[in-house]
Amino acid sequence: MNLSRRDFTRLGALSLAAQLAPPLRAQSSNRKIGYAIIGLGVIADHFMRGIQATGNSKVTALVSGHPDKAARIAAQYGVPKSNIYNYENMDSFRDNRDVDAVYVALPNSMHAEYTIRSAKAGKHVLCEKPMSVSVPEAQAMIDACKAANVKLMIAYRCHYETTNLAAVKLIRDGALGQVQQIQSAFGFYCGAGAWRLDKELAGGGPLMDVGIYSLNATRYLTGEEPSSFSAYTYSDPNDPRFKTVEENINWIAKFPSGITASCNTTYSAPMDGYFRVYGSKGWLEVNPAFIYEGLNLKAEYYDSTGKQVKLDQPNPEKDPIHFTNEADHFSNCILQNKTPKTPGEEGLRDMQCIREIYRSAGISMS
Ligand code: NAD
Repeated sequence: MNLSRRDFTRLGALSLAAQLAPPLRAQSSNRKIGYAIIGLGVIADHFMRGIQATGNSKVTALVSGHPDKAARIAAQYGVPKSNIYNYENMDSFRDNRDVDAVYVALPNSMHAEYTIRSAKAGKHVLCEKPMSVSVPEAQAMIDACKAANVKLMIAYRCHYETTNLAAVKLIRDGALGQVQQIQSAFGFYCGAGAWRLDKELAGGGPLMDVGIYSLNATRYLTGEEPSSFSAYTYSDPNDPRFKTVEENINWIAKFPSGITASCNTTYSAPMDGYFRVYGSKGWLEVNPAFIYEGLNLKAEYYDSTGKQVKLDQPNPEKDPIHFTNEADHFSNCILQNKTPKTPGEEGLRDMQCIREIYRSAGISMS
């Protein structure tokens, strides 16, 4: 089938229409979805604070290998001692009616096991990105949730964030004309000793961790699935941090309509996550685009009357709003029996892309 670039834009607009809808807000029901938080690290802290501001979600259980930390956090969120689990006895929350869903906030290679165990215990699963460390694992997670008849959502918080959504809307509305090229990057200096530098736990380097933001953004900005990748990697052989994962990786993605996206990620330089989109009638940039607050949308384009439009829209929303929106959406999907905007299949598509990027760069994946 021969599709023109216009057809691709239209198809993208249709397939992403759901993503452009404002976050669903809690309906009249007073029922709150109870979450067991699995892994009490940095991102779990953001998520638990975010949940507090929803009308439909609450923290009702904790799963941790650190009893002291779990007891302290339980007191903070009003979680009874009887609802504190460890990684071994977690499956017994099957019989706990306080737990409707779990939030998996563990190192990447543990996502599949804890998602599948939770699904088998009859709990809905909100799992952090990257969904898994391999394509077969991602598929197994989807299959397990389907078999257990529970929902699976991947925590791609930018899909629930207003500035990212505004950028997508400008593109879909045609403000930039035909999109030609995208640039995006996200990276940071990762200190020695972090689990992120251990392939057994992380599955890969910065691509799995923060590069995935750029990858996912190029997919939601274009509304297309990449058709090919060309990637390059470099790791300093004298830096002991990079014995098992890559230090730097750059890739170009080509999309079916002809759009190309050029992306960079690193564990050796501070790189505010951003994207810039160039179209035939103008450009837009969200910088920063992927951190928890302070997002800013700038754009310059010509409207239908030929008048030049200049936008500079800092977003005043504060952390942990992204997590509030994300939890609110997933809980509403559970309450209303709807499919999340970022289901397991969305995570699987990124894993398939990551596999191709690594293949092109000559890096083996789990
Ligand atoms: P973290 O190191 O702060 O927390 C990890 C948690 O897992 C800790 O509570 C730790 O005790 C626990 N854990 C259990 N077994 C472990 C093991 N063998 N080694 C290390 N920790 C172990 O990490 P984090 O930054 O919270 O990241 C957790 C997940 O969240 C990752 O998948 C990451 O990609 C994702 N993440 C998402 C975002 C986002 O904005 N969506 C941001 C940061 C991290």
